[in-house]
Formats: sequence, structure tokens, C-alpha cells
Amino acid sequence: MEKIGNELSILGFGCMRLPQKWGQPGSGAIDEERATSQIRYAIDQGVNYIDTAMFYHNGKSEGFLGSALASGYRERVNLATKLPPYWVKMRADMDKLLDIQLDRLKTDHIDYYLMHSLNGPAWNKMVDLGVVDFLDSAKQDGRIRYAGFSFHGDRDSFKAIVDGYGWEFCQIQYNFLDQQHQAGTEGLKYAAAKGLGVVVMEPLRGGTLTKKLKALDTVWDQADKKRTQAEWALRWVWNHPEVTVVLSGMNDEKHIEENIRIANEAYPESLSDRELDLVTKAEETYRKLMKAGCTGCRYCMPCPSGVDIPASFEQYNRMKVFDDKLFALFWYISMAAGTLSSAPSLASMCKECGQCVELCPQHLPIPDLLKDVAKEFEKWWLKPTIWALKQVSTIQRRGALKKVAS
Ligand code: SF4
Ligand code: SF4
Repeated sequence: MEKIGNELSILGFGCMRLPQKWGQPGSGAIDEERATSQIRYAIDQGVNYIDTAMFYHNGKSEGFLGSALASGYRERVNLATKLPPYWVKMRADMDKLLDIQLDRLKTDHIDYYLMHSLNGPAWNKMVDLGVVDFLDSAKQDGRIRYAGFSFHGDRDSFKAIVDGYGWEFCQIQYNFLDQQHQAGTEGLKYAAAKGLGVVVMEPLRGGTLTKKLKALDTVWDQADKKRTQAEWALRWVWNHPEVTVVLSGMNDEKHIEENIRIANEAYPESLSDRELDLVTKAEETYRKLMKAGCTGCRYCMPCPSGVDIPASFEQYNRMKVFDDKLFALFWYISMAAGTLSSAPSLASMCKECGQCVELCPQHLPIPDLLKDVAKEFEKWWLKPTIWALKQVSTIQRRGALKKVAS
């Protein structure tokens, strides 16, 4: 915090999950008009930290943001983007990638520049390739103002990276379910004690913490002050004085308004002991229910065998945790029939190659979990159900075509 002062709004706008034209996560087809208006609205309300990355929306997020921040909006914000270490093969690549990003973002400098998704091995590789010299030079020639890193690894690596360079800030995943996970509370305090600003990502754990759950209602009903689940989760993160900015991947106008309202009311150490106890009870409730702690980040995709890994887990948690059996079945059958993608994308298609396990920041035992998913959903009735639904769909299509012809 000391290193970057107090210039940042406590709510940041994340550009990984912008509204999309066809409502398909990961399709990359940003609904630019709507997303521009959302971002400008947030800036007009005081949000001044905007975060993107090279590969968000299949590489389209930065270019979009460059246009969205025209008409004077660029000058009103602190722009953050990230260098992808997995695309860096030599020192010269770092400059090339940064120059491409400056061009896409239509700016001459990045305010907050991060090494994207570091863990121990990725950091060691970047050091060997000359990242220290790169960051020092880019700061000196004015292409970046502050250097930081986003992190998905274990706590010891986190501390080693914090100590490995003169960073001004870092970005960690943090919410009341991830207090012991990755950098966790210990990492948050460690970085803050070293004077780094801490940007928090996934405060709602990819939206999981906002899903309605009967078991949770009994917890939140005990609160004197009624709040939405999103508010409880955000207030809990902002309750930590070590947190500088909380990023929210906002794509719905109502959520943006709600988050801005909460940000205006949230202060460090403002939750009472009783309220904090309720959050602990909520956490325990989730832990009892949760089977696959997937955040939906899609780092593991694409699977070479065609499995839609996050969608499988989403339906599994929908079934097991969120008690939404009918929808879970509907969506899984749609996946099985290939109606949600170009081909079936079932959990049972996993060949256990292990590729996804290395890429998953949550370190989930993906192949084992997929076996559980397949056991839950892929029962004897799956194939006949898909066959019947396809017949119904063919009949409906023929009927619709007949109507058009007549
Ligand atoms: S382990 Fe299974 S799910 Fe993961 S990439 Fe390989 S085939 Fe796909
Ligand atoms: S399985 Fe892991 S990498 Fe894949 S979407 Fe979930 S959390 Fe992300």
C-alpha cells in the first residue's frame, strides 16, 4: 500500500467476464456497446482501476478496452494488464508483448503491469529470461508505472516471489472460502507488511458465493442487518485493512450498481464479531456441501478429449451444493447431446492425460472429480433421453420450417 499511495478506488472493474453477444462464456464475442456503457458508468461513479489481460475474451479484451476508454476515460483510470509468461520464450518477447498491449490499449503507458498467473516455476523461468531487467527498463522508459504479479500457486512460492523483486503490488485470489488457499490470509498479510498494494480477485469465487442455497439462508437469516450474499462476501474482503482494491468481473448493470453501493458503504474492520461469526458459519456450510471447488476460470481448457471441464463441475455443484437438480440435469443433458457446444463434452470422455491438472490454479484433482460427475449424471437413462430429445427437436424444427414455408 505504501508503495502506491491511496490513489485507487477500492472497487476495480475486471474485464475477463464482460457481457457477451451470444451469452457464451469464453466465446470472446464482447457485446461492445453494452460493455462500454457499463465501464463508463462505473468510472463516472468513481471506479478508477480497470483490469484486463492479454488473453481475456480470446485476446479481444485489451483491444475493446482501448476503444471503450476513448473520449477522455483513459485519463481518468488506472489501467492494469498482464504479461503472459507462457508466451515468453526470450527476453525480447517481453518488450514485444508489452508494445502490442500498449498498441491494443491505445495508450503510451500501463499504470499497473502484472506478470500473469505466476507460481514458483513460472517465476523462476521469467527470472532466467531476464524479467528483472525488463521491468526495470520498462519503468525507466515510462511504459509502465508500477510492477506487480497475479498469483495462483502455493504460499511459500508466493512469499519467495514477493521477496524476489521490488514489486509495488500483487494480485491474489481471496474470499471467505479461500483463506487457507493459495496466498491466503497469510500471504495477504505478508505482502501488505512489505508495503505492497494487494488487489483481490475472485472475491465471489467466480459467482459461486452469490448462488442461492437453502442451507445458507438459515445462516444469513440470523443476521440483524439483512444483506445479499454478494454483499456479505464483498464486505468480508473489504473488512481486511490489507486489501487495496477488490476486482469484480461485472457484466450486469444491477450488479455494477450494487457493487458500487456496497463499496461506498464498506470500511476496513467494520464487521462486528457476530457478523464475522456468521461468515464463518457460512464458510463451514459451503465446505460441507462443496464437491468440486472450481471457479470457472477456464485455464484448463480446451481439453484434448473434448470434455467441458468447468461446465461439468458447474452442473455437479449445481446438483450437489446448490440443490438445483432439474437445471443441473437439463444442462448436463444439453452438454451430453452437444447442444451447448459443437460436440458432446461429457465428463466420461476424460482420458486422464493429466494436462488440465497442471493448468488448474485451484489444483483440483480434475480426472478423479470427473469420474464422480460421470457417476452422478451419466446413468442408463442418459442416452435414451438424448435420443428422445433429439426426436422432439427434429419434429419442432420441421414444424417451424413448415410454418415458414406456408
Ligand atoms: S485429464 Fe481428462 S479432462 Fe483433463 S485434459 Fe486430460 S482428458 Fe481432458
Ligand atoms: S477446473 Fe480449475 S482451471 Fe478448470 S475452470 Fe475449474 S478452477 Fe479453472
